[in-house]
Amino acid sequence: MGNIVTAINLRKYFPIVGGVFRRKIGDVKAVDGVTFTIKTGETFGLVGESGCGKTTLGKTLIRLLDPTSGKILFDPEGNLPEDPKIGERINNYDISSIKGRKLKSLRRYMQIVYQNPSTSLNPRMLVKDIVAEPLVVQGLAKGKEAEERVLQILERVGLAREHLYRYPHEFSGGQKQRIAIARALITHPKFIVLDEPTSSVDVSVRASLLDLFKELQKKMGLTYLFISHDLSMIEAISDRVAVMYLGKIVEIADPRELFNNPLHPYTQALFSAIPIPDPEVKRERIILGGEPPSPANPPSGCRFHPRCRYAKDICSKQEPALIEVKPGHYVACHLY
Ligand code: SF4
Repeated sequence: MGNIVTAINLRKYFPIVGGVFRRKIGDVKAVDGVTFTIKTGETFGLVGESGCGKTTLGKTLIRLLDPTSGKILFDPEGNLPEDPKIGERINNYDISSIKGRKLKSLRRYMQIVYQNPSTSLNPRMLVKDIVAEPLVVQGLAKGKEAEERVLQILERVGLAREHLYRYPHEFSGGQKQRIAIARALITHPKFIVLDEPTSSVDVSVRASLLDLFKELQKKMGLTYLFISHDLSMIEAISDRVAVMYLGKIVEIADPRELFNNPLHPYTQALFSAIPIPDPEVKRERIILGGEPPSPANPPSGCRFHPRCRYAKDICSKQEPALIEVKPGHYVACHLY
């Protein structure tokens, strides 16, 4: 399996302006130097408290937001070089600063499904036009051909011809999300950011959407970045999971390893809240003190140190690097 996306030291800051002259007085460091790779065909889960930078990271990876610094390597063929330190060759894949026509033509390969389809679908457009829009914008098809392709993709997501000439308000929440998924799939993308895609639908609909994502992945060769704060959802769908805290990735592992053996104190606290179905097994519930600090003024050294029960002197002075402690299990903590 090759790689489809690699982020290298990626940052996304939002300026804070203030004073009479509306000068820049600081930055919200939403994503602050993350490095990781997404393998072709996998579902890469991204989990963390709200406000930790998950959505900003997803949008920056597909260039809906311009990065502040760092590189984003993307290969629609899914054959990125394993080692991102291979000199000038990585620049062939770097999409972090491409613009204009080059960026537009890449967009067909990278799509996003948002949390709430009620706000992401234009209420005044018919389903056939909503789903066809990316095709038309990209100049890939129009008229009858576009309508035929819309119908094919609607059928793939469990809708039918009779839905073509309806408006979004005529559908249930789950069906609206299926329309949003059809719209994301119409250009036959390779990489899709799923940003909390099931959190606005009923629990009963969630399982069917998860099944749909898995089926589409298999049939269409898709790679997903699955963003969620719902750990059970992340466990059910992900091949690997990254845990994010205040703009940083603090741990990456496959879901079983992460759930059974979380190493970072933040991951331990996050996962201690999940009930274990076996009454014989007891797990200590770790309650984190205080609110997460502001990303406009993150703590020095390890960003988790003001809330960490294992914090030692070095933690407030030196930022821990994300290192591989076991095959495939990475953690950023001075305990390892
Ligand atoms: Fe806790 Fe220190 Fe590890 Fe940060 S580096 S998680 S403060 S032990």
